Amino acid sequence: LKQKIQCVRGTRDILPEDMPLWHRTEQVVRDVFGCFGFSEIRTPVFENTALFERGIGASSDIVGKEMYTFIDRGERSLTLRPEGTASVVRAYLEHKMPYRDLGQARLFYLGPMFRYERPQAGRFRQFYQAGAELLGFENPEADSECVAMLYTLLLKLGFKELKVDINSVGCPACRPDFNKTLVTWLIKKKDFLSLDSQRRIDLNPLRVLDSKDSQDKEVVQTAPKPIEHLCPGCLEHFENVKRFLDKIKVPYVINPFLVRGLDYYTRTAFEILSGSLGAQNALAGGGRYDNLVGQFGSVEIPAVGFAVGMDRLIELIKSLPSVEIKKSKLVALISQGRPAFEKIFILAQQLRVKGFEVWFDTSNKKSIKNQMKQASVLDARVAVIVGEEELSKGVIALKDFSSQIQKDISCEEIELRLKEILNAN
Ligand code: AMP
Repeated sequence: LKQKIQCVRGTRDILPEDMPLWHRTEQVVRDVFGCFGFSEIRTPVFENTALFERGIGASSDIVGKEMYTFIDRGERSLTLRPEGTASVVRAYLEHKMPYRDLGQARLFYLGPMFRYERPQAGRFRQFYQAGAELLGFENPEADSECVAMLYTLLLKLGFKELKVDINSVGCPACRPDFNKTLVTWLIKKKDFLSLDSQRRIDLNPLRVLDSKDSQDKEVVQTAPKPIEHLCPGCLEHFENVKRFLDKIKVPYVINPFLVRGLDYYTRTAFEILSGSLGAQNALAGGGRYDNLVGQFGSVEIPAVGFAVGMDRLIELIKSLPSVEIKKSKLVALISQGRPAFEKIFILAQQLRVKGFEVWFDTSNKKSIKNQMKQASVLDARVAVIVGEEELSKGVIALKDFSSQIQKDISCEEIELRLKEILNAN
């Protein structure tokens, strides 16, 4: 018996019926990021493993247990990208962008990411992210601008009630001392923490603060928090980020437990959550990473960025009351008999070259009734019908599916009449 081959666990097909929503969402991403002056960059989906080991950090869950790493036929260790920032920074350095425009760059990306995580609702092993990186600015306006861009994107997509969580995780000047304070506190509470969190005390103590485990969450309520231990520089930065967000009316809440666990993450961390996503409720996350670029090259360049999970975003958009999917522009050509079929075959080519979206039944074996039924299943907006009668009269029948009005027109009028129907609301 032949074994059935299905898509790999944690992956899925995004089917044609979902594509209009994906395209629309991706277009809004490109438009909004474009309005903020960001340019798109496409990096490869696989990179040298070392890039992620250095760029994400060996102590992270991603590098520790979630990477799709393989040896290629040339014995190189390669990894399917688990996130976008490391690749963008690599490309930024590889193309010597730091030496243009004083090191400033505004880059964004859209594409698939791969993580070996336990699949569940809203969590896949291949998922899609849209992300942006603002490189070359250390001032708090840059952080606020990134948060504002993310917020604007969500507004444009029709979200109304989302709040941004923000926090500051300090910098190399204040974090080592804070880490010591935190570790001392965590050791005292060790027995009350989950095994994962116990392990993190040595490996990555800050991450214990944002544990998703319900008991951990209760324990850390009274833990020391980074915002209570910021150095004057970090405190001023954080105050300004908040001030600029207030000025441009981006609502936020301070979440002292929000962290980005790695050393090169500095100062601002932010996240957008949605209640309706359940346990996997993070829609987007980002923050400042002033010490990452230096991991790859000789220059240290401050940066801030974020990534939005497109799969989760699109699931949520589906539940919004106001989703307005583009109206169909499909023109169905319907024919009866061989001469009429040849006529619409030629007409289809003429219209497609002009940019019309055209469907006709290639088999030429179905009745007019049957073809009309299929056109309606395909959500056609208008039907162009050439039956024997129309052929003998030298006309074409045009049926507008929205108004259900059908009328005969001459062949010369067709493009004009189609445009009238398709462009009407
Ligand atoms: P991160 O790069 O971990 O900060 O993730 C940024 C966003 O990507 C998250 O807020 C999620 O919306 C999304 N995301 C991360 N991992 C997954 C996954 N395995 N499946 C679906 N979406 C994900």
